[in-house]
Amino acid sequence: MPPPSVPEVPTQVRDLARLLRESETVVALTGAGISVPSGIPDFRTPGTGIWEDVDPMEVATIAAFRHDPARFWSFYRPRFELLADKLPNPAHHALVELEGRGMLTAVITQNVDRLHRKAGSGRVIEVHGSIDTSSCTMCPASWELEEVDELFDADGIATCPTCLGYVKPDVVLFGEMLPEQAMTEAHDLARSADLLLCVGSSLEVFPVAGLPDLTLASGGKLAIVTQGPTPYDDAASARLDGDVVEELSAVLAALQG
Ligand code: ZN
Repeated sequence: MPPPSVPEVPTQVRDLARLLRESETVVALTGAGISVPSGIPDFRTPGTGIWEDVDPMEVATIAAFRHDPARFWSFYRPRFELLADKLPNPAHHALVELEGRGMLTAVITQNVDRLHRKAGSGRVIEVHGSIDTSSCTMCPASWELEEVDELFDADGIATCPTCLGYVKPDVVLFGEMLPEQAMTEAHDLARSADLLLCVGSSLEVFPVAGLPDLTLASGGKLAIVTQGPTPYDDAASARLDGDVVEELSAVLAALQG
């Protein structure tokens, strides 16, 4: 019998492992694709899961929240329930592992699902906020995710018991400004990165989509791990387009070797 052949490590996986070893400051930038293996459908992919009947670009806007909060919550309340019990997957854990080895400085994420923090990542910048808390739009009151369910009135609108103001999840809705402090931190990190490791993002939604330009302009490199094309594919020093869990697991294995 011939000896079992050793599976060859794909070039792109080897390239990314080398880049991770060589780079002093690595920053991860993650999007919806990293949470798909956790059972969270991509918000912007039509026809997936509970978004089949609504266009989130129409309902999950700050204007919709102000003008028709009942309709907004009829969309967002099931989203809360969908996200509440989801768990991090091996792609989230791979970033924790890189951080533990001193190979990753921070994670910038567009996701509001808290899964990077649940996985144990130390420095997470949530540029679109998170479902962790919801706040009154009229007074300083704020509630944990688990407490929001008690705030709904008969019309299905989350209402502040103190001032009767509308309660809004602390996520950035379409049409809202991004949190200034988080964006400043994200910009500084992108500029300081020798390597920006983009995972599960199509890099098309601005202003987060502008972060790779900051890294490149500062002399840093890009690595992209995501399925489907991105505008930065030609500029990337490593481009992995398989499943995020498989690709990052392969990279971790290549780093062991
Ligand atoms: Zn209030």
